[in-house]
Amino acid sequence: MMWQRAMPLPPEIAPSPAPLPSSPLRLRLDTQALADNWRALDRLSGSAAAGAAVKADAYGLGVAVAVPVLAEAGCRDFFVAHWGEVPALAGLVPADRVAVLHGPMNDAEAAFCRASGVLPVINSVPQAARWSATGGGPCHLMVDTGINRLGVESHRLGDPAIAGLEVETCLSHLASADENSAQNAVQLARFAEVRAAVPARRYSLANSAGIALGNAYHADLTRPGLALYGGIPRDELAGHISQVAYPQAAVIQVREIAAGDSVGYNATFTAPAPMRVGVIALGYADGYLRCWSGKGRFSWQGRDVPALGRVSMDMTVVDLTHAPGCAEGDWLEAAYEPLAASAASGLSQYELFTLLGQRFQRGG
Ligand SMILES: *Cc1c(COP(=O)(O)O)cnc(C)c1O
Repeated sequence: MMWQRAMPLPPEIAPSPAPLPSSPLRLRLDTQALADNWRALDRLSGSAAAGAAVKADAYGLGVAVAVPVLAEAGCRDFFVAHWGEVPALAGLVPADRVAVLHGPMNDAEAAFCRASGVLPVINSVPQAARWSATGGGPCHLMVDTGINRLGVESHRLGDPAIAGLEVETCLSHLASADENSAQNAVQLARFAEVRAAVPARRYSLANSAGIALGNAYHADLTRPGLALYGGIPRDELAGHISQVAYPQAAVIQVREIAAGDSVGYNATFTAPAPMRVGVIALGYADGYLRCWSGKGRFSWQGRDVPALGRVSMDMTVVDLTHAPGCAEGDWLEAAYEPLAASAASGLSQYELFTLLGQRFQRGG
């Protein structure tokens, strides 16, 4: 339309107007704890080697920081779920030590797999046929032993498409390793049958919790994820695993409120007395979900700083009563010890990590 063409163009945002200010959100990673956790899990895996599940950006902690630390600690096998997670690993670990759990769903994914040099995890007879038809070569094979999620059903293992595979690692996955469930022994017994039926260079069954089930579950390669990042899925791991992830948020405003003043959306907190409160740049868009409303805790120089009222999208208000020296620009650290944080929030330890959003600056 004419009038649009006649309008002056608004100025555009310059690609780099100036150096980007640092984020008011930091995810501090204790890289020493991460390396120690891998070494502990590798040791607990007995004669099996421990790999690492680094899917979902290393459970939200950041592949760019976590993977070099794991590789330096001695980890050689890395698992992602999506093809889109492969480029972030480029240059960090050898391509053929990266396994893509979802496998090739179509020829384009098979072609991407080949071009990138990573290995697919074959999860079905059609995926097996596709991998062979597009050139074959080494791959991993996931066999279902009872989780009924991804994986070739054990009664299809005799299919010629499966028999034609060059299986590097034959995998299965435990459904209830974090519980003392009879299902664990059932899956272990089925995995023994799988091992007899499928020739492979290595076999792998245990996730983090499975490592704590004992040697029978370790096979040749274990695949911890959660426990690497500080999660504790079974009590047996408690003495071996340390916290890795420490979310921190900057105070972007401090204000004094009067008795009777309320805080935040829907006024769910009302000050019983005059108080000093802080606004921090952390909200549910960053994965600090509304379940933390009235329950979240932070610390400033060792002082306890509780959350007040509703968590909003980009902000949470905190009580600075016990931190009178805390000022705008100061950093608060969230109470995020995985077991305690999970109990307080109702989120699983997995969710606590993987929720942490893109606005965090991640670093060691
Ligand atoms: C995510 C995943 C793991 C890691 O599980 P954790 O419980 O986090 O240790 C291992 N194997 C497979 C197939 C997975 O999808």
